[in-house]
Amino acid sequence: MTATSETTEGSQTAHAAGPAGRDAGELCLLMKLGEIVLKGSNRKLFERRLHSNIRSAARGLGDIKLSQRGSGVIIIRLPDAPDERVAELAERVRNVMGIVWVHLVRRVAKDVDTVTDVAVRSLADRTGTFAVRARRRNKRFPMSSSELAGYVGARIKEHHGLAVNLKHPDNTVFLEVDKDEVFVFTDGIPGQGGLPVGMSGRGLALMSGGIDSPVAAHRMMRRGLKVDFLHFSGMPFTGPDSIYKAYSLVRQLDRFQVGSRLFVVPFGKAQQQLTTSGTDRLQILAQRRLMLKTAEALADNLGAETLITGDALGQVSSQTMTNITALDDSVDLPILRPLIGMDKVEIMDQARAIGTLSISELPDEDCCTLLTPRQAETAANVGDLRRIEKRLDAEELAEHLVTTAQVHKPSFLGEETVTVPSSG
Ligand code: ATP
Ligand code: MG
Repeated sequence: MTATSETTEGSQTAHAAGPAGRDAGELCLLMKLGEIVLKGSNRKLFERRLHSNIRSAARGLGDIKLSQRGSGVIIIRLPDAPDERVAELAERVRNVMGIVWVHLVRRVAKDVDTVTDVAVRSLADRTGTFAVRARRRNKRFPMSSSELAGYVGARIKEHHGLAVNLKHPDNTVFLEVDKDEVFVFTDGIPGQGGLPVGMSGRGLALMSGGIDSPVAAHRMMRRGLKVDFLHFSGMPFTGPDSIYKAYSLVRQLDRFQVGSRLFVVPFGKAQQQLTTSGTDRLQILAQRRLMLKTAEALADNLGAETLITGDALGQVSSQTMTNITALDDSVDLPILRPLIGMDKVEIMDQARAIGTLSISELPDEDCCTLLTPRQAETAANVGDLRRIEKRLDAEELAEHLVTTAQVHKPSFLGEETVTVPSSG
C-alpha cells in the first residue's frame, strides 16, 4: 500500500443525503461466507458459482453490483433502489446456499465524522448496553480499529446515554473499513450456510408429499447439489392433489437453488401391475424399487449422479435395515439418505425452518397407500423381489414410466410452468 494511492479514495463513494442533509450512507448488503473460505485453490470456482447463484436469486430486482471483499465477504449494491427493494434482496439472498450471515449495512465515506454520525444514528431508539466492533480489511484509515471503536463508542455514549458492555452487549455496532468506503451496521439475518448449489454436481430427489423428502432435498442442496425432483402420483386411480402438493413443495425449495424442475410420473397402473403379479406383503418394497429404477433411468437422462430419498432408519416398516439394503439393491446409482439418523421431531423442526411443513401437512392421497397390503414385510428377501421384477420386466417398465413423465418448473418467483414430455 503506497501513500499516494490514498489521494483518490472516496471518489467513487455514493452518498445518500439523510435527514438534515447529512450523509446517511447508501443501504446495501454485506454477506459473510462460511466454509467457502476454506476451499484453498478451489475458492475462485466456489466464488464464481456463488456470485452466479446470487444473481439468479436477485432476478427482477434491478441491476445488482456485486463485489468480493477478501475471501469471506461479498458486498451487493443496488444503486438508487428504494430501501424496501434492498430489504427484499436481503430476504432472497439469505436463502442462497454458502452464505452464513446477511447484514443490511450503510455504506459511508472513509471519514471519521461521517462514520461516527451514521453509527450514532444506528442506535437511535435502542435501549440497554452496547459495544462497537471495528475491523479494517483495508488499513488506509487515520485510526486503528481499536481507536475507531473507542472514539465512536464514546460519541454513542454521549449522544444516547447508553452504557458500554464489551462482553455481553444488548446492541452491537459493527464498523468495517474497506478500500473505498466504511460499512456501518448493527444486526444480521442468519443465512443457510453450506456450499453453493451446483458445486457438488446434480442429484434427483424422490419427492412424496410427505414431511421427510423436502427436508432431505434441502440438506443435499446445502451440500452443493443441484437437485431435480421426481414425484409419483397414484393417477389415474387418485386425483391430482398429491401433484399440487409436490408442486408447492418444490416451489418453496426453489428459493434455495432457483431453476428447479419437478417430474411427475402417474404410477397407479404400474402399482396395479405389481399387485397382479402377486407381490402381496412385498408390494411396498416392490413399489419403492420400481420408483428407484424409474428415478435411475430419469437421472441418466438428466445427468444426475445420485438419488436422494427421505428415508430415516426404522421410521416406517419399509425403512428397516434389511429393507433399506433391499432398496439399494435395485439400482446402481448411490442413494443419499441425509435423514437416516434423524428422529421425527428433528425432521419436523427442519421442515418448519425451511417452510415446507405446512405444505406437507395438507391432506392428499398418497400413491403408497393405494393397493398396499395391511401388513408390510419388514425383512424383505431380495431374491423374491428380483423374481417378481423379472416376471414383470421391471427395467422396461421403468424406462416406459420415464417417457410418461411431465415436467414442471415451479419457480418461487412466479407461476411459470412448462409441460413437455421429459424424454422422447
Ligand atoms: P416422506 O415423508 O418423505 O413421504 P415417509 O416417512 O412417508 O417419507 P415413505 O413413504 O416410506 O416414508 O417414503 C420414503 C421415501 O421414499 C420418501 O422420503 C421419498 O423419498 C420416497 N417416496 C415415497 N413415496 C414417493 C412418491 N409418491 N413419489 C416420490 N418419492 C416417494
Ligand atoms: Mg411418505
